[in-house]
Amino acid sequence: MSSLQAPRGTFDVLPADAARRAVLETHARRILGAAGYGRIETPTYEATELFARGVGEATDIVQKEMYSFDDGGGRSMTLRPEGTAPVCRAYIEHGMHKQPQPVKLWYLSSFFRAEAPQKGRYRQFWQVGAEAIGAAGPETDAELIILMADLYRAAGVRDLHLRLSSLGTAETRREYREELAAYLHAHEDGLSPEVISRIDLNPMRAFDADDRRTQETMRSAPILLDRLAPEDAEHFERVKALLDEAGLTYQLDPALVRGLDYYARTLWEFTSGALGAQSAVGGGGRYDGLIEQLGGPPTPASGWAAGVERMLLAAGEQPVPTDVVDLFVAIAARDSPQAQDAGFKLANEARRAGLSAQLELAGRGLKGQLKHADRLGARYVAIIGDPMQISLKDMEAGDQTEIAPEAVIPTILRGSRVA
Ligand code: ATP
Ligand code: MG
Repeated sequence: MSSLQAPRGTFDVLPADAARRAVLETHARRILGAAGYGRIETPTYEATELFARGVGEATDIVQKEMYSFDDGGGRSMTLRPEGTAPVCRAYIEHGMHKQPQPVKLWYLSSFFRAEAPQKGRYRQFWQVGAEAIGAAGPETDAELIILMADLYRAAGVRDLHLRLSSLGTAETRREYREELAAYLHAHEDGLSPEVISRIDLNPMRAFDADDRRTQETMRSAPILLDRLAPEDAEHFERVKALLDEAGLTYQLDPALVRGLDYYARTLWEFTSGALGAQSAVGGGGRYDGLIEQLGGPPTPASGWAAGVERMLLAAGEQPVPTDVVDLFVAIAARDSPQAQDAGFKLANEARRAGLSAQLELAGRGLKGQLKHADRLGARYVAIIGDPMQISLKDMEAGDQTEIAPEAVIPTILRGSRVA
């Protein structure tokens, strides 16, 4: 008999993992909320065209990582591989350019990419992302980078490194790409076949190559940072100065290329030395051309996305927050319907009073129930006997008192107020 398993490259989030994710979500909400970012959630899938136009035809994502399907009506849809294009689509669709700018949004969602699964690389994974749409200044970029660093710090990501670069504007990039493509064609004998095949499609990717010989050749390649127009260079200087002022250390990496086509000017990536080969914990950049490319008004924007699984991996074993159990309701007289009813009612009423309460549901004997309550870390156990006697056991103090049913909840509430 074949057993059913989660699809390759996907995973189940079990309660202990869910608890760690919930903590991360709380950090994200606090850090981004305090900076004026509002939560957004877009659909799990979008028209394929959005990603083709928004992410870029020449990118790995669009060329080989998209899960696309026919929606049944002849329209091609794609499970979202990233969040920026959908957020920009929503910004345009809801006329957010009429709101005071910048519009600041954040998300925590799952994304889908048809990749070769390995540690830290999945086919369904989660990202926390932030986008500031409608602001062109370097302060926005610096703010976004600092917020991202704050999130990593709160999450406990170890051995964090920031790499920073600027891509200039689309025009500078166009000229530079020609210069770079000419350099690559002139040095084809020092490049891998894969890089050669991509020279005219996306020469920047040559900097990304794993091939040793290609890396050697790229060491003497022209560098975009040296070709920035004066206003782009000034913008970048200011981003750096603001990060310096905030005490954030970074490394300039003129060969930094990220897998998305829409970036212009500031570009960054965070890595963690605590991770293996998949060391990127997140990245971001300025994407001033994207909204217009998607049919909106010309709008500057900047944003980032951080990988949830990689953040958790890079944080290492963190204590799992456990839920408090205020009350465990044990049934001493298991064959008494009255005792069963009284226990059921007590657990419900305790929850309505704001306590966390669990009722014995597995038919254990009294000894087993007390052991289970102890395992749960219950603060009190109400033992229901027959007829209608309740013994309330304070698990910490170890003392047990006989009390009236209606006194149980007030007693525990009083106890928790003291604690
Ligand atoms: P990589 O170089 O690792 O493929 P990327 O450049 O494709 O990353 P982005 O699209 O910038 O990644 O996504 C931002 C972050 O999301 C990454 O830095 C990483 O932490 C996380 N991430 C990306 N793809 C995956 C994946 N398949 N599984 C898990 N996390 C991922
Ligand atoms: Mg990738």
